[in-house]
Amino acid sequence: MSDRQYQRIETPTDLIARLREMLGDRLSTAAAVLEQHGKDESWHASSPPDAVVFATSTEEVAEVVKLCAAQNVPIVPFGTGSSLEGHVAALRGGICIDLSRMDAILEVHNEDLDCRVQAGVTREQLNDHLRDTGLFFPIDPGANASIGGMTATRASGTNAVRYGTMRENVLNLTVVTPDGKIIKTANRARKSSAGYDLTRLFVGSEGTLGVITEIGLKLYGIPEAMSAAVCVFPSVDAAVDTVILTIQAGIPVARIEFLDEMQIRAINNYSKTDHKEAPTLFFEFHGTDAGVKEQAEFVQSVAEEFGAEEFQWATRQEDRNKLWAARHKAYYASLQLEPGKAGMPTDVCVPISKLAEAIRETRADCDASPLTCTIVGHVGDGNFHTLILLDPNDAGQMAEAKRLHDRMVERALKLGGTCTGEHGIGYGKLDFMEAEHGPDTIALMRSIKSAIDPKGLMNPGKLIPGL
Ligand SMILES: Cc1cc2nc3c(=O)[nH]c(=O)nc-3n(C[C@H](O)[C@H](O)[C@H](O)COP(=O)(O)OP(=O)(O)OC[C@H]3O[C@@H](n4cnc5c(N)ncnc54)[C@H](O)[C@@H]3O)c2cc1C
Repeated sequence: MSDRQYQRIETPTDLIARLREMLGDRLSTAAAVLEQHGKDESWHASSPPDAVVFATSTEEVAEVVKLCAAQNVPIVPFGTGSSLEGHVAALRGGICIDLSRMDAILEVHNEDLDCRVQAGVTREQLNDHLRDTGLFFPIDPGANASIGGMTATRASGTNAVRYGTMRENVLNLTVVTPDGKIIKTANRARKSSAGYDLTRLFVGSEGTLGVITEIGLKLYGIPEAMSAAVCVFPSVDAAVDTVILTIQAGIPVARIEFLDEMQIRAINNYSKTDHKEAPTLFFEFHGTDAGVKEQAEFVQSVAEEFGAEEFQWATRQEDRNKLWAARHKAYYASLQLEPGKAGMPTDVCVPISKLAEAIRETRADCDASPLTCTIVGHVGDGNFHTLILLDPNDAGQMAEAKRLHDRMVERALKLGGTCTGEHGIGYGKLDFMEAEHGPDTIALMRSIKSAIDPKGLMNPGKLIPGL
């Protein structure tokens, strides 16, 4: 967690006047709009930009970027603001480019299983649009995030164990570079060996290298059969050992989500469900009728071997929807355990063989702490989150939460993992970058940043320490 102080650069009034002339009421300097655009969904304080522009085309984004670059004014791209590490905070002031009005689904190629969308399209909007085509887009962060923001944070979610993350599902990008040029990173081919993989460079760049305006995505056929199950275990170890054996056996589960006892209590209160308050796995299987049955029977036998107490099936779509809706609301459910408090989310990811050790020791830390913590995770990937409830104005609670967080990250790194499986760095996790990557790798990242953004105007203060 970073306590760095940032010097704001004052945005020249003539730039704001010029942008207003160009965009009319699609430029805002209203205090509430600035406040909302300087803050994400986490505990990090707001750092508002000096103006927000609501862009409607790639060309318009390019024009805004050129005007800002000419006067050395920082630029912060904004999707829906659902990120969790201070990503959208305008630490040095400047102009926020809100992409939410670029929400057109430009092309759907059923026969090639791909599509092209503007950056402001949200994941739910895309899936609503695809409903009648028999296709779907699987990446599902808990929030209804924009595809641009998901690309910029290399997001994933409950389906990643089967379908991968944004890294595996973005085919190509249109990007406005920090000098206002419009580039395309690749064509629609499923694979290419033509030069540096710029698509993958911009995926996960958190707005620090350019503004993504259009995204080509892979799509998938809606599986013939889907089935979900809830399984309750006598201990955290029994649940996690079931996950490890399932993954090691190569069972292509679509989702395996772990929820600890405290998280189940939070969900029961919030979503009015009646799950047993115990370490629990939510599963989902996709495939043919026979394939789903076979996968489910295998997993059930593994779970029983580890002492699973109950295996409840949800085969009807409405039951599955209810289950996953409750899972997606886990963050807000946890916050309601202590209304008025904020949540500090952690996001470590470890190799699957180290998962039991990582979760067991994390739970022990949480049990020994005076702060309330829930644990939930996309455990099929070795990724889990602790939500630590705290009052950000209480220095003692902040110090304790930071201590817990630091221990989790140190443990993950020691086990060969990462400080963030999917949320990204923003400025909240800057202090872990060097420990994870080492000084020479960070120096190379800095060189890439300065080659593409020599003036350091794109989302300054994020992703790379010392910039
Ligand atoms: C309840 C909840 C659950 C969540 N669950 C998950 C989860 O399961 N998995 C997961 O991965 N994340 C999760 N998140 C985090 C968040 O939803 C993701 O990080 C998401 O990808 C952010 O998208 P956004 O549109 O809100 O981006 P924003 O928050 O608006 O922006 C995020 C970053 O991307 C940059 N950016 C945004 N749009 C663009 C663009 N067009 N071009 C360039 N840069 C851009 C911004 O500058 C910023 O640095 C969760 C968040 C919440 C609140």
